[in-house]
Amino acid sequence: MRVGILDLDSKRERMGHGKTDRFPNLACGKIYGYHKLNGDEIIYPWRGERVDRLYVATIFSWTRPAIERQLPVWERATGEIIIGGTGWDYRSKLPPEIEAVSPRWTYDLYGIDYGIGFTVRGCHVGCSFCVVPRKEGTKEYRVATIGDLVNPRGNHVVLLNNNSFAEDGFFDDVAEIRERGLTVNWNQANDITLLTPAHAAALASVQYRNFNCTKPMLHFACDQMIKRKLDPMTGQVVEYDMLRVVPEKVRMLAETGIPPHHLTFYMLIGFDTTLEEDLARFYMLHDLGCHVYAMMYRDLRGRNGVDGRGRPQGAWVKPLRDWINGHGFRNVPFAEFDRYVRRQQQLRLAL
Ligand code: SF4
Repeated sequence: MRVGILDLDSKRERMGHGKTDRFPNLACGKIYGYHKLNGDEIIYPWRGERVDRLYVATIFSWTRPAIERQLPVWERATGEIIIGGTGWDYRSKLPPEIEAVSPRWTYDLYGIDYGIGFTVRGCHVGCSFCVVPRKEGTKEYRVATIGDLVNPRGNHVVLLNNNSFAEDGFFDDVAEIRERGLTVNWNQANDITLLTPAHAAALASVQYRNFNCTKPMLHFACDQMIKRKLDPMTGQVVEYDMLRVVPEKVRMLAETGIPPHHLTFYMLIGFDTTLEEDLARFYMLHDLGCHVYAMMYRDLRGRNGVDGRGRPQGAWVKPLRDWINGHGFRNVPFAEFDRYVRRQQQLRLAL
C-alpha cells in the first residue's frame, strides 16, 4: 500500500534544534509508525504523488478553508482521503491500533533530537475560549511517563500538557526529569493560580527551558482579568483576580530562585477585555519583569476578528498585539503607536 501524509502545520526547517520550527504533529508520527510496521510505502511530505491513501492533519482551524479548496485536487490523486486533527474536527481521534503506536516514531518522521508529547491530558478549568476541555475532558488524567517520551538522540523534552499542576503525577514527572538529567520545556501555559511553594520548588529543581532549549523559560497564562473555575480540591466555583494573584505567585517563584525574566505569560486579547484591562494586565506583567506574548482570540471555528460574544473585535486588538509582540512598547506608549493611530484615523474617516 502507498500512503501519503500531509501535515499542514509543521515546516521542515533547521531552527537550532532538530528540523522543525513548529511542533511535529504527533498523530502524523503515529500514522507513520503504524504504516511502517505494516510494511507500507510512505510518502512524507506528500506533494501530490499518486497514493492509495492520503492522511491530512491540521491542528489549527484556520486551515479549514484551504483544505476545502484543495480537496477536489487531492481527490484526483488518491484512492482514499482521511482528514483529521483538532483544526478539522476536535472530536477526531486516531483508531486505537494507530493510537497504540509508540510516540517515538514521531521523532523518526520529523528527524528531531528532542522528546515531545503529553504525560497528562485534559483540563478542569473549562475556559469557554478553549477546545481542550471539549476535546480531552474536564478532568486531568495521566497518559504517559517522562520515560515514554524521551528521545534516545537527546536529553531535551517538550511537554504539551495543558494543566500539569492539576494532576498528582506532576511531582513524579519532575523527579524523573531531574533523575534523568533532562532539560524540559513546559510548552503550554501552566495555571499560575494552582502554583504552591511545593510546585515552585519542584520547578526550580530542574533545568526548565524554552522550546529550542536556548534559555531558561517557564510559560504561564494571564488570559482574563478574573479567572473563574471549579476548585479541583473543593469542587466550588472560585474567582481569581489576576492582577492580585499573578504578582503574589511571581514573588513565590522568585523566592525559590526563579527570576521574573525566566517567565513568559501568554495574554489573550480580543476575547472579553477592554483596552484599559489589556494595558493593565500588560503593564502589571511588564513591571514585574516578565515577558508577555499577546495572543489574539479566534473562535472555535477559526474565525478571527470577533470577540467572545461574536461581535467585531475592538480596533485596538491587532495593533496592541503588534505593539506587545513586536516590542513597540520599548519606544512609544500604545496611544502613540503608529498602527493604532492609523487605525483610529481610518475609523474616524469611515464615520
Ligand atoms: S486553563 Fe488552559 S487548557 Fe485549561 S481550559 Fe483554560 S485555556 Fe484551556
